[in-house]
Amino acid sequence: MNFQRTIQKAVTLRGTGLHLGKDASVTLKPAGINQGVLFHRSDLKDSLPIEANYRNVVSTQMATTLGKGNVTVSTIEHLMAALHGFGIDNLLVEVQGPEVPILDGSSAPFCAALKTAGIQNQGAPRTALAIKRRVEVKLAEKWAVVEPSNRLEIHASIDWDHPSIGYQEFHFIDGKTAFEEIASARTFGFLRDVEALKKMGLVLGGSLENAVVLDSALVLNPDGLRYPDEFVRHKTLDALGDFKLAGIQILGSFKLHRAGHDLHRSILAEVFKDPQNYEIVDAVEEPATIKAAVSKRAVAARFAV
Ligand SMILES: [Zn+2]
Repeated sequence: MNFQRTIQKAVTLRGTGLHLGKDASVTLKPAGINQGVLFHRSDLKDSLPIEANYRNVVSTQMATTLGKGNVTVSTIEHLMAALHGFGIDNLLVEVQGPEVPILDGSSAPFCAALKTAGIQNQGAPRTALAIKRRVEVKLAEKWAVVEPSNRLEIHASIDWDHPSIGYQEFHFIDGKTAFEEIASARTFGFLRDVEALKKMGLVLGGSLENAVVLDSALVLNPDGLRYPDEFVRHKTLDALGDFKLAGIQILGSFKLHRAGHDLHRSILAEVFKDPQNYEIVDAVEEPATIKAAVSKRAVAARFAV
């Protein structure tokens, strides 16, 4: 059986928001079966939780932002990717401020926090969304395609006219590719864009501590890259985080070229537009790629209640 999961105990992460450059923190808390992932702005009185669903995406500029009314939560994607890595279905995310902290620009600190919190198997079956036919979205030179498959696969490719990037591709197969192969890949940006973005009030918290930064030729971070192809690995991580906004495990093979948050949201919307594109099925295979995370203690606790 494939059971829903949450965490065993609350855990807090503190850091800086990438865009506003202000202190930001999140507390991850256990949630009940079929609750899904909910973001709640704990700094705002009377604000309602926002479901982590692609329908609630209000901006994809530089990050994925969820919103409801005038309440927003930005930069959720690296946390969402870590939740995919641990197969977490149900979670309450209390956010102090408008942004999830950027931390080191990857999913690794969220993975460490989830390990500390412990994974709780909830004993309720999980469903999945099986893609039944090819769906595609094209935006100029960028495109996304999804086709039927018995597991989630992401074939990501990028083609950047930059001497340190160029053409890169990465193939992630859920359950086969270790999540650690992408978890530490950081977000990246170009020095020439930073000034313009800062004038727009974006990336005010961006630094070499939380992003790979490139000038016209080279990577400026003194320690260099964490993987030779860190850029496409980060794109794969972003896609996994954004596809978690389907709100259900997807069984389908995605091919993404020069994709980003906008295209990830668009392909999900395109899939859900026509019920003939998919079928809801029992999830038979474990989606989690960090399987060791479910402790025996967690399973024992489940049978004790
Ligand atoms: Zn990212």
